[in-house]
Amino acid sequence: MADSSPLRDQLRSVCVYCGSSETTKPDYLDLATRFGRALAGRGLRMVYGGGAVGLMGRCARAAHEAGGDVLGIMPRFLERREITYEAVPHRMVDTMHERKHIMFEESDAFVVLPGGIGTLEEAVETLSWRRLDLHKKLVVFLSEDDFWAPFFALMQHTVEANLTPASFSDAVVYARSIEDCFTALGAPARV
Ligand code: AMP
Repeated sequence: MADSSPLRDQLRSVCVYCGSSETTKPDYLDLATRFGRALAGRGLRMVYGGGAVGLMGRCARAAHEAGGDVLGIMPRFLERREITYEAVPHRMVDTMHERKHIMFEESDAFVVLPGGIGTLEEAVETLSWRRLDLHKKLVVFLSEDDFWAPFFALMQHTVEANLTPASFSDAVVYARSIEDCFTALGAPARV
């Protein structure tokens, strides 16, 4: 049956924000691997920061090895620290701002896997652009163990103080499984 979701029609590339840590919980690294594979399985291109380390590296490698398209955006000064994943196309840039700008421009939606300060920074900036009506792209926070629950509690805290409009929740999705994530994006598994 044809999928009539409007987002599905526009959904070609998904930007993945996620941690660069190699020493995080194995479950998070495994989630990144499964998510990369799932992107490839749905014919969606993965856009990301370009590194070979942590969840970033796991996700990109899995997507690439499953036959998916991947685009990495790597700032030159981070090349050694985050180790550019050379097997996939990547663009080298000079600044973090350029990296984020290209990741934004090249993507139709954003998925945030577990990550640290860098992941938060990228996700929050994307949300802030949506808050300013600079785009209408969806941001999905995906974790299988409620990793992102404290962040949603914080956002709700700002809503309750009338600092963020309640309607802003339309822009942000909380997904507890890969399948829920793709359903939110309008790209459920084909059966
Ligand atoms: P982390 O979650 O701290 O492991 O960082 C995840 C990724 O976000 C890493 O590739 C960082 O280089 C990247 N990152 C951190 N800060 C920024 C920023 N201001 N702009 C773009 N990417 C960033």
